[in-house]
Amino acid sequence: MTAPYPIQYVKGVGPRLGEKLAARGIRTPHDALYFFPRDYEDRRKVVPIRELTSGMTVPVRGKILSVQGGGKGFRPTRLLEVVIADGTGRLSAKWFRFHPSLAERFRVGETVTLCGPARWFRFFPEMHHPEILAEEDAADPVHSGRIVPVYPEVEGVPPRVLRKIQWEVVQRHASFEIECFPAGILERVGIPPLQESLASLHFPRDDADAERFREFSSPQQRRLIFGELFALQWALTLRRAGTEREEAIPLPWDREIVDEIKRRLPFDLTGAQRRVVNEILKDLGKPHPMHRLLQGDVGSGKTIVAWIAAMVAWRHGVQAAVMAPTEILAEQHYRKFLERSAGLPVRVALLSAALPPKEREAVRNRIRDGEADIVVGTHALIQESVAFRNLALGVIDEQHRFGVLQRASLRRKGRISPHLLVMTATPIPRTLAITLYGDLDVSVIDEMPRGRLPVRTKVVTEDGRRKVFEEIRREIARGGRAYVVLPLVEESEKIALRDATRTAERLREAFPGVGVGLLHGRMKAAEKEGTMGRFKDGDLQLLVSTTVVEVGVDVPEATVMVVEHAERFGLSQLHQLRGRVGRGTRPSSCFLMAGGEQGEEAAARLSIMEKTVDGFRIAEEDLRIRGPGDFAGVRQSGIPDLVFADLVRDASILNLAKEIAAELQREDPSLSAPDHIGIRRFLAMRSTALRGEHPSPSSRD
Ligand code: ADP
Ligand code: MG
Repeated sequence: MTAPYPIQYVKGVGPRLGEKLAARGIRTPHDALYFFPRDYEDRRKVVPIRELTSGMTVPVRGKILSVQGGGKGFRPTRLLEVVIADGTGRLSAKWFRFHPSLAERFRVGETVTLCGPARWFRFFPEMHHPEILAEEDAADPVHSGRIVPVYPEVEGVPPRVLRKIQWEVVQRHASFEIECFPAGILERVGIPPLQESLASLHFPRDDADAERFREFSSPQQRRLIFGELFALQWALTLRRAGTEREEAIPLPWDREIVDEIKRRLPFDLTGAQRRVVNEILKDLGKPHPMHRLLQGDVGSGKTIVAWIAAMVAWRHGVQAAVMAPTEILAEQHYRKFLERSAGLPVRVALLSAALPPKEREAVRNRIRDGEADIVVGTHALIQESVAFRNLALGVIDEQHRFGVLQRASLRRKGRISPHLLVMTATPIPRTLAITLYGDLDVSVIDEMPRGRLPVRTKVVTEDGRRKVFEEIRREIARGGRAYVVLPLVEESEKIALRDATRTAERLREAFPGVGVGLLHGRMKAAEKEGTMGRFKDGDLQLLVSTTVVEVGVDVPEATVMVVEHAERFGLSQLHQLRGRVGRGTRPSSCFLMAGGEQGEEAAARLSIMEKTVDGFRIAEEDLRIRGPGDFAGVRQSGIPDLVFADLVRDASILNLAKEIAAELQREDPSLSAPDHIGIRRFLAMRSTALRGEHPSPSSRD
């Protein structure tokens, strides 16, 4: 362990820089050791100018041919340009922001070594804002002649100064760190001990593979990644072991129950649905709570599975609760459940904020007295004022819209732990699912109901709008329905409402004789339900809506989805929206309207939607582009921010960490074997750090 003295006493720091470092969370040498490079530059070899290609960041050395600008003389300029030549070519180095004294460091005829990102402009390579490697740097092990770390910016500390500080820290402190994993584990993962890893990942050895360091796949970096992911998997494994010890009301099924339910199914279940129903029924029969995630792409038919589980609970005389993220969806489930169980003495109730207070009170009383068997609702279900008589099954639909905390609140509504089924339309990539749901068993519906056609998807610019309108007209004439979805305006719901209202008006003009409805988050729940109902019945054929229809809404007659300003949506969100159509047997289309100046990036991003309807692939892509923090539910999941690990990049280590954590928990759950004491100390230290007593700086910006 490193002594916890203040960073200002490290050579070259002092009180002023010490303050700047502390502002970035670097208070001690130990913090500095864990402040990792975000990239590396390979400066081992000076590269001939002719061999430069755009994107390379390498040193070049040449004679100075000219120095222009730089504020010397009569009129200071805002550009400093230094041209050098090395016999193979010429290179222009440019500075747009600089200290006036910079120009004085260059004298025509002298030789200089520069290192910066190269790019070709017209016929010459350029470097913008290169670092100047002074000649005496040749003997300097910090900035030259080696693979050099590039750190995240620390305000007020120039990059070279920061690098020098890190060098000092690594020299003096890295070897005092203590490896917590036994040699056997290190060997199995293929990683060196902590001391060596820390030293090398700041200043890679001369024979290191620079590319692997840049990709964060060197064994030394993997050591740190492993530590982080192991701690995560340990926590998740513990959580899971906890639920296995809990008690629950067993709800075994028998022929009679199954036959009764089967008779009421409006269609044959798909093979995948049958498989997951069996998995769920098996769990429900156990005296320990089920803790199962049901994944299935949009439209794969998860609702019926939830209904079957709820019916099993009813047959056992206990209560089931089904929670959905929106009023519209709760209402929709409620109606479906009523319809399916017509003629049976099942009492289905809807607990919605839309109910007048008196009625809401009445529903709450029925739930408390056990006069409601299956309760459908929104977040309203987990409010303090709601008490169940004997809740034995909780279902959470569109789980990704809720956090882990809400999952826990629903569980607490049972006198003893209810069985829990959480459902999601897979907007969460596999790697992330392992961590988010590492404590759950997973069932997957990987098959669509028969006769479904993939939704034809097109990215359309304003020029193509006429064609889109023609398609809407044709489909409505055939008895179909269409959605037009607008993005939510972040700053103001008012503006969103105005936009939606205007769009609806315009569409009424454009489609005379067509019933155009408007759905918006600001409408009262009862109004929303009314509009939704009229759209379902076909009284309205065109529905203008903000993203309130994003999840779960099921109107099989709808065959056209138009998303306005599609570039403002995340891919997974677009996938959800697209899932509102293609629910019947007729071919459907989805048009992604891309606003005027969509950047290339936006277009490339949207084109993925044209290429695939696979929710998994889309989610992985989304994760790659936006990072895990943006996935709803991740932030509140209680999962610590990962400093060094990346759930996509490091999936293989994640799995290995899971395996090893599970083994250790089986063999030595208290980590008291001599070989494991280090791990115990490491985990204990991490959990203090997580509680904020010792915040570690992050290397990610
Ligand atoms: P999601 O998985 O997105 O929640 P839903 O449960 O809303 O999907 O189902 C989508 C549509 O498919 C609904 O109209 C539902 O009635 C229908 N459906 C579900 N399962 C089947 C099946 N096995 N055969 C035919 N249609 C089905
Ligand atoms: Mg659904």
